[in-house]
Amino acid sequence: MFDGLAGSPKGGDGGLDGGLPGLCGGSLRHQLAAVRKHLGMEVAFVSQFVGGRAVFREVDAPGLEALIKPGDQRPLADLYCPHILAGRLPELMADTARYPLARSLPITAAVPIGAHLSVPIRLPDGQAYGMFCCFSPHPNPSLNARDLQVMRVFADMAAHDISRVHAAEQARAAVAARIEQVIAGRQFGFRYQPILSMQPFQVVGFEALCRFAPEPHRTPDVWFEEAHAAGCGERLEVAVLRHAVEALRLLPAPVFISVNASPATILGGALPGVFAGLPMQRLVLEVTEHAQVPDYAALREALAPLRHAGAKVAIDDAGAGYSSLHHILQLRPDIIKLDMGLTRSVDSDPAKRALAAALCHFARETGCEIVAEGIETEAEFATLESLGVAKGQGYLLGRPGDLATAREMVGVG
Ligand code: C2E
Ligand code: MG
Ligand code: MG
Repeated sequence: MFDGLAGSPKGGDGGLDGGLPGLCGGSLRHQLAAVRKHLGMEVAFVSQFVGGRAVFREVDAPGLEALIKPGDQRPLADLYCPHILAGRLPELMADTARYPLARSLPITAAVPIGAHLSVPIRLPDGQAYGMFCCFSPHPNPSLNARDLQVMRVFADMAAHDISRVHAAEQARAAVAARIEQVIAGRQFGFRYQPILSMQPFQVVGFEALCRFAPEPHRTPDVWFEEAHAAGCGERLEVAVLRHAVEALRLLPAPVFISVNASPATILGGALPGVFAGLPMQRLVLEVTEHAQVPDYAALREALAPLRHAGAKVAIDDAGAGYSSLHHILQLRPDIIKLDMGLTRSVDSDPAKRALAAALCHFARETGCEIVAEGIETEAEFATLESLGVAKGQGYLLGRPGDLATAREMVGVG
């Protein structure tokens, strides 16, 4: 019966952006189905205008999926919509044969289109996003102004949903653009916080902590979280890591550098390339644990070449997240970094002390070592040392500082 509305190219949206991901897609599909059934039509769709084409974003056309499906597109010039928007065709055509302009458009006979209702979807700024449309191959003389009114109500609801998705997408794109600027302009640097061994008590390494230059100042975890939410967290982490490890060349062996990476970035597979040519025995990779790890086997596999080359793996912030024990069992790290929440008042809080002691016991049994983070007081330090913590880090032992200060701490520069 139908020739097809998809036009060419068929399928996919050819990389056109502005789709209607999940949230809005589901409710739109229901709205389309409701209108189509109400009007007794065969096809209902929402289109988006993108660069002279209409992209069919949501479609309800049971049994006609080969004819029209989400992602198909067609030049606007082939369609009714530019004429409807310009007032040359009405929004309601109970019988397209009665309109010479509609009759003259090849699509009318080709699809065919007998009855057609279509109203623009207007975003809050007045811009026409696309059309909310229903059609049938047969004329339908019963269609009337009230039906058109129903279409308008649904088009308004669609506009509301779409504008929400649009606003979120624009905010995401703005963040991604800002992150790209930060990467391209290298608007970040590092502070190096000393890590000291307990026996003998001396600086043995530094954690490279990123500092982003743009104002207002925000801590690095906020930057990375935002970048991940905008889909460019891995790019940012890799860009930062490339520079974080530069300090290795400026610090004498065997002083190590500890760098941070999320499981997503490790799984991305770029790190062996980023670290190529470095003295890997002096590199510690801290796996941050702010997100669930979907596939530990894959993560172990991604870490394997780094470990094989001599890098050590640390679990960062252990004791902070609900899954950190699982993380430890799955990844078998060389180092467990006690979260500063556990360090804080470990001297006076029996439960924290018991947990820290249990982790120290685990470390001894499994051959890894404990580094306590965020040590601020002599009492915390003394307690952790007595529990058998191998290394410590915190304001008491040294604040994050510049590279020149780090070099002085290890007797160079
Ligand atoms: P983290 O890796 O657990 O780093 C320790 C954080 O605790 C650092 O905050 C450090 O400045 C702070 N800190 C150290 N000692 C003390 C202390 O005694 N008391 C207190 N109150 N704080 C202390 P910072 O530099 O703001 O970093 C926050 C988080 O941002 C890091 O936590 C890490 O998860 C992330 N981060 C920092 N740099 C990078 C990076 O280059 N890449 C990635 N992926 N994440 C990074
Ligand atoms: Mg860390
Ligand atoms: Mg930490």
